[in-house]
Amino acid sequence: MRLFRHDITLIRSRQGVILKSSNEILISQSAIKNNINYIKSIIGPNVRFSSVVKANAYGHGLEYFVPVAEQNGIDHFAVFSYSEAIRVHNIVSEKTDVMIMGWIDPENIRDAVAKNIEFFVFNQERLQQAIQSAKDLGVPARIHVELETGLNRTGFESDLVKTVIKTINDNKEHLLIKGICSHLAGPESIANHVRVKNQIKKFKQLVRRFSKNGINAEYYHLACSAATVCYPEARFNMVRIGIMQYGFWSSRETHLRFMRNKIDEIDPLKRVICWKSYIMSLKRIKTGEFISYGITYLAQSDKKIAVVPVGYCSGYSRSLSNNGRVLIRGTRCGVIGLVNMNMIIVDVSFLENVEVLDEVVIVGRQGELEISVDSFSEISQQINYEILSRIPINIPRKLVD
Ligand SMILES: *Cc1c(COP(=O)(O)O)cnc(C)c1O
Repeated sequence: MRLFRHDITLIRSRQGVILKSSNEILISQSAIKNNINYIKSIIGPNVRFSSVVKANAYGHGLEYFVPVAEQNGIDHFAVFSYSEAIRVHNIVSEKTDVMIMGWIDPENIRDAVAKNIEFFVFNQERLQQAIQSAKDLGVPARIHVELETGLNRTGFESDLVKTVIKTINDNKEHLLIKGICSHLAGPESIANHVRVKNQIKKFKQLVRRFSKNGINAEYYHLACSAATVCYPEARFNMVRIGIMQYGFWSSRETHLRFMRNKIDEIDPLKRVICWKSYIMSLKRIKTGEFISYGITYLAQSDKKIAVVPVGYCSGYSRSLSNNGRVLIRGTRCGVIGLVNMNMIIVDVSFLENVEVLDEVVIVGRQGELEISVDSFSEISQQINYEILSRIPINIPRKLVD
């Protein structure tokens, strides 16, 4: 197995002691394979699959996820920033493409161009920097022209399109138009249907303007996971898939909309992540005592409690106080009292044979039961994306079958 900087389970301290972490994240290779194959079966062979691995591969660990995705045929990765792009670039084969959708410090543009890293261009500044770097280096910049279609975030406004077309045409030898793209404003909810439909229409109109002026991109892309599922017309010849490849639907609604006409109701996606910890301490508490800080939990009967070393500093939201769930000995157990910085307290009163160092599953499967990030979200008001992407980078990850 390869060893990465954050793989602290395997790092020995100076005294030669193995530092074992209180938390561990298992990444399932077969689940990644399953999800990628499933998404490929939806999009077919003529649409390129760009795998979105921003935010440390949605908390899964970029260095773990990317090689497995690559083994399963992914040859295009999308990230938010230049530093993430370098992390991907360093571990993929030369034939695999990397695309930056967001932040690049102007000082790094040249290096991105030199390394053949693709990037979004959404303003004049970056377009000029791309051209200048390409001129200096004598190699073309691989750009994706991002257009504003209604999200109102980044992207060239329509009134700039004329100038952009002219600039590109004046610098043809310095630019490879890898893509023309935009991003949708919430296709995971039917409430945004009209807005999304208008964006798709606008995108098509703008694309036509570019092609009328002799600018054709290798890829046209607009769709994230939810749009890939719910708006097939938004797939064009590339989709940018994030959440689904990790085994989660963008929203419950997306899941239902897609499964509506299916005969079997088995979820075709498999969760990739399993986040676990251990019982650190057990004790009995008498009726009438408050548990944890303050007075949010009063023991109404004698209790047996387990203390687990997971807290809000490890991404376990404080809003899960008194209502989070974990799995111990194949049973669902409730978090009682406030979530602390490094610990939660779990009610294990009804578990007969529970011991210190028993495994505790925070997210994932244990026995017959599963804690999905979905059920987290209903309790804590956080959406899938937020919980996953906040899982700290320093929890050791391990690849499993
Ligand atoms: C994050 C992101 C995606 C992927 O979205 P999912 O809903 O996770 O599939 C696609 N495109 C852009 C521009 C993004 O920022």
